Amino acid sequence: MSSLITRRKTRQVQVGHVWVGSDHPVVVQSMTNTDTADAEGTARQIFELWRAGSEVVRITVNSPEAAAQVANIKTKLENWGCKVPLVGDFHYNGDRLLRDYPDCAQALAKYRINPGNVGKGSKRDEKFASMIEKAIEYKKAVRIGVNWGSLDQSIAARMMDENSKRSKPLSADAVMREALIVSALESAEQAVKWGLSPDQILLSCKVSHVQDLIAVYRDLGARCDYPLHLGLTEAGMGSKGIVASSAALAILMQEGIGDTIRISLTPEPNGDRTKEVIVAQELLQTMGLRSFTPLVTACPGCGRTTSTVFQELAQDIQSFLREKMPVWRKDYPGVEEMKVAVMGCVVNGPGESKLADIGISLPGTGEVPVCPVYIDGEKDVTLKGEHVAVEFQAIVERYVMTHYAVGGSKRREQAAKIIPLTSI
Ligand code: SF4
Repeated sequence: MSSLITRRKTRQVQVGHVWVGSDHPVVVQSMTNTDTADAEGTARQIFELWRAGSEVVRITVNSPEAAAQVANIKTKLENWGCKVPLVGDFHYNGDRLLRDYPDCAQALAKYRINPGNVGKGSKRDEKFASMIEKAIEYKKAVRIGVNWGSLDQSIAARMMDENSKRSKPLSADAVMREALIVSALESAEQAVKWGLSPDQILLSCKVSHVQDLIAVYRDLGARCDYPLHLGLTEAGMGSKGIVASSAALAILMQEGIGDTIRISLTPEPNGDRTKEVIVAQELLQTMGLRSFTPLVTACPGCGRTTSTVFQELAQDIQSFLREKMPVWRKDYPGVEEMKVAVMGCVVNGPGESKLADIGISLPGTGEVPVCPVYIDGEKDVTLKGEHVAVEFQAIVERYVMTHYAVGGSKRREQAAKIIPLTSI
């Protein structure tokens, strides 16, 4: 982890086999968009999300048909070797579903409860209490997840009323932000009174504007020690969703706030749901918080690169690394920190390539059509011809096998970084 970031001190909460809190790395989460009643389709998507690196996956549990399939989904995943903790997303009827489907209540690792969507008036307390009772009975974590779009209206009205009596009333936005925080904190307090351990509680207060999210989480983080789930809700599609989520989450995580994250991207029609996992990983990795996959340093290209060879090579090598990681992660620990450079011409190419563990400098327009490859800062071979991409991938693979296998130089470097307990 970057020494520039000090995590906000929190309680540690167990979600299945995954720990969430300041003593543990920030956890990557995702959510399915399949109908949970379709057990096969949902299990497949969870498997894909997990394979891409999601450490916890949330599923919608909105109907008896969905609840009836949760245990089945979990069994399917286990048969495929996937033990990712599942979170049930409940609204309106969660109390009934958890009561009527004990297999579902047992199979889930965490219940997500939105206090604004539990029920109204005295019914709300009754239904909320019933869900908390199930979390206590089955020893499950609970995320109390408040959302701007479904804020408990009784709290909003109360706070607006209180605000109108102030000598200097706050702005309507400030009151709404406070109402979100109060809703989360009061719901947590209520759950604890009913017997849920504070060590089973996570909080989130999701909004859809960057500045609101930052303000809400700074305040929420200062007022409790529960682990916080971060996410900009309704972030949007494509680059807009990625930029907005990254801007908000990066500022908060730089301040040590946030113990688990989700990037809520709207996928393109028939788009790949795993994109939200990759963006979350890349955000954590570029901030120096965690390492998942070797990232390729590539120059942006300019008038010196008039063909697409260089872009294609950069893209191919990043896809190649991502595809290999499920196996490499197991067999070659530490490989996720490997640095690979793909550069477009002689101006910065050799310099950047030498700084990487392994780098290639392609020829710019008018340069001699050869591609020097640098390994650990030294020029190793020069590639040329039509098969540069494949040959470079083979060199990268060889580098991984020789440097990150048992006895390899990178393994020895990692071992040297571990301080023996006796010297502490
Ligand atoms: S390394 Fe060369 S091709 Fe790449 S941006 Fe710099 S000058 Fe342009």
